[in-house]
Amino acid sequence: MPRAICDRCRRPQRVCLCGLTQPVPHKTPVVVLQDAQERRHPFGTVRLLQLMLSNMTVIPVWEGKPVARPTELPDNTALLMPRPESRPLSEVSLEGVLGALVVLDGTWPHARRIYHEHRWVQSLPCVHLEGVEVTRYGLRKAPAPGWLCTLEAVASALEVLEPESGCKAPLMGALEGMVQLQRSLERGR
Ligand SMILES: [Zn+2]
Repeated sequence: MPRAICDRCRRPQRVCLCGLTQPVPHKTPVVVLQDAQERRHPFGTVRLLQLMLSNMTVIPVWEGKPVARPTELPDNTALLMPRPESRPLSEVSLEGVLGALVVLDGTWPHARRIYHEHRWVQSLPCVHLEGVEVTRYGLRKAPAPGWLCTLEAVASALEVLEPESGCKAPLMGALEGMVQLQRSLERGR
């Protein structure tokens, strides 16, 4: 018997995420370059973000097939990626409104590959989060201390850029809901 799949979140009905999500209004456009393999991962957190953030674009990237810079990307766009030359996001946000935030989604090797395959991504100024909390996303092994899943990174970045939008709490709530749902299923097996 084929498993019933939710039309909206594309998860099996018994682990449908729709009840966990609510629309979260925000101003800063978020552009996610997503490793094509990551797209199929059942516990990927970008799907939750997509169900909640109104101003987000996800661009799938296949290895060896770089995508062009989106034409609508404003000049003052930053890449959220810790690099030797990256600046704290809080510092950059004090200098003016950020046009858009680009995030690379995938495992760390995937993110690094996407970075190296895209000249336009390399040309973006890099920003990083400070005082990163311990990840609450326990479904996959964190590759390094201080690592955050994509949802946590975007939620924390929006909190720095536009605290008045109050995005972080509902996003983190949905993530915790997804983790609990999965844990309860595993216990029930
Ligand atoms: Zn659903």
